[in-house]
Amino acid sequence: MSDSQSFTFKAETKQLLNILIHSLYKDKEVFLRELLSNASDALNRFHFEMLTNQNVLDPEVELKIHISVDKDERTLVIQDTGIGMTKDEIIENLGTIAQSGARNFIEATRDTEVDISQVIGQFGVGFYSVFMAAEWVRVTSRSFKPRAKAVSWYATGEDDFEVSPAEMNERGTKIEIKLKEDAAEFADETRIRNTIKKHSDYIGFPIYVGDSESQANQQTSLWRSARNEITDEQYNDFYRQMTMEFEEPLLRIHAVTDAPVQLFALLFIPNKAERGMFSLRKEDGLKLYSRNILIDEYNKDLLPEYLRFVHGVVDSEDLPLNVSRETVQSSGLMLRLKKIVTGQVMRELETLAKKDAEKYIAFWEEFGVFLKQGIASEPLETEKVQPLLRFKTNLNAETWSSLDDYVERMQEGQKEIYYIVGDDPRSVVRSPHLDYFQSAGTEVLLLTDPMDSFMLMGLNKYKEYELKNVAQADVETPEANEKESEAEKISEDEFATLLERFKEILGERVTDIRASNRLSQSVARLVDPDDSLNPELQRVYRYLGQEYEVPKKILELNPSHLILKRLLAEKADANLQKEIIEQIYDSALLVEGLHPDPSSMAPRIQNLMELLLSKGA
Ligand code: ADP
Ligand code: MG
Repeated sequence: MSDSQSFTFKAETKQLLNILIHSLYKDKEVFLRELLSNASDALNRFHFEMLTNQNVLDPEVELKIHISVDKDERTLVIQDTGIGMTKDEIIENLGTIAQSGARNFIEATRDTEVDISQVIGQFGVGFYSVFMAAEWVRVTSRSFKPRAKAVSWYATGEDDFEVSPAEMNERGTKIEIKLKEDAAEFADETRIRNTIKKHSDYIGFPIYVGDSESQANQQTSLWRSARNEITDEQYNDFYRQMTMEFEEPLLRIHAVTDAPVQLFALLFIPNKAERGMFSLRKEDGLKLYSRNILIDEYNKDLLPEYLRFVHGVVDSEDLPLNVSRETVQSSGLMLRLKKIVTGQVMRELETLAKKDAEKYIAFWEEFGVFLKQGIASEPLETEKVQPLLRFKTNLNAETWSSLDDYVERMQEGQKEIYYIVGDDPRSVVRSPHLDYFQSAGTEVLLLTDPMDSFMLMGLNKYKEYELKNVAQADVETPEANEKESEAEKISEDEFATLLERFKEILGERVTDIRASNRLSQSVARLVDPDDSLNPELQRVYRYLGQEYEVPKKILELNPSHLILKRLLAEKADANLQKEIIEQIYDSALLVEGLHPDPSSMAPRIQNLMELLLSKGA
């Protein structure tokens, strides 16, 4: 035809086509899934357009997909009544668009572990999978825009494609495929039906094959079906088709409500927090449907941010149809939907925690950090989230305990929940702040995850119990435990002399130096003066990389400690005494994770070793 124009594919696309034509992928059938997925997208986009725009071609035509085959001709035709494409769109979408997806696909084909035919759709190049099975392809399309003209696109998988005017009266897109000899099996209705069942059963529009009036796909949205009629396998298939995650979900929630709002929700908590390499879900958010029409692919207003790891579908009859995405988001109805959906998820998690502790821990280890974030960022939700938290403690370091477990095990007279904050579980148990609690057998929560400091900003009380950092000077402890240490203390006079010496050497670096009865194994510890920023906030500032001055602290000494007793006897060697006092202070800073320059200790430690060795000599 004289009006026909020839174009050349982009370099990456040429390379991609070359791979697809010449490689022997065993699962050729996936090309059908890709073409049906495109048809379904096109129908969805048209459906959505209709909500706000009545000025469209063929508004009355049924939204559907039709497939026909011709065995003798070895052809396959897939036709949809979707949104269609104009000439410019067809050139861009099927040929000239810059293809980063093609490049990524080519990269991925180098990895032989991956079955490329399974995942081609995820690279945004699914259409080209047709060349696994096609000798040539002709796409004819007529846009929904009433004045657009029909156009056709033709390619054989070589370097060029042709675009020319076409005859087509109905809105939508028709894809004609001349099958290669080794793909002749697809010119067969039964083969096509089976493939649809396998890969495309939940496409939201009817698919008809040949002359049959019964549709080949189940179509009914799974979330609208009765729960007792759905098998585990169907749920898992649905999850797989939606996400392309290969592992089964950790938890599924299928909820239907009629009041105060009508709603169907089918939600999944994945097995892993990280999305699979080929996940279809590119963003967080739920698929939002209104009466079966997809109105938002990634809706983020249905769940609080801290539950953003939940995937799935929410469909409500109550959402008005003739609205844009923006107005949906700002309507009060969304808030009510959010309340219900959030409530469902939280309730399921509570139930799981009660009924299947092991599975709940698997959940906690993957997603606990999100819940902690919830405590920090949503003060109104803390009460709901608190029972879901799990902790390691000094007395139960290997297993996870809830706050209720902790409370149940509290000691006689204990009125507060104690915790310690630190950088890692191993160093935190050596902290001098734990000395007292360890020897009294008092349980302390070990908070060593960076998110813990943030969580503590929203967690100062559980039921009637305040949470108390053991590093704080004023922490109250059950009186029963206030027994005097058995070890002999230094006399008061001697201690006073020692204090003077410490003050002389440390000077302005500490606000005060005093004796403490909270230490047993450790010589000293640093505590905050009562008026300073609490230790969690100090950490939060540090994590956020914000400038803040390490507040001056109080140095508490253990008057029963052997080092201090001997130190007094070291009067003669003022130099050694000074170095030891400096090192006691530096070690205390180090334990708090506050030392500004740990390597500066090396010369002193060397000096100390030399002094000690020369004494021995
Ligand atoms: P993706 O579907 O990931 O965008 P594809 O390679 O499958 O990538 O399709 C490329 C583009 O071609 C689509 O984004 C769409 O714009 C257009 N397209 C493909 N098939 C159809 C169709 N049946 N109707 C309308 N547009 C289509
Ligand atoms: Mg596609």
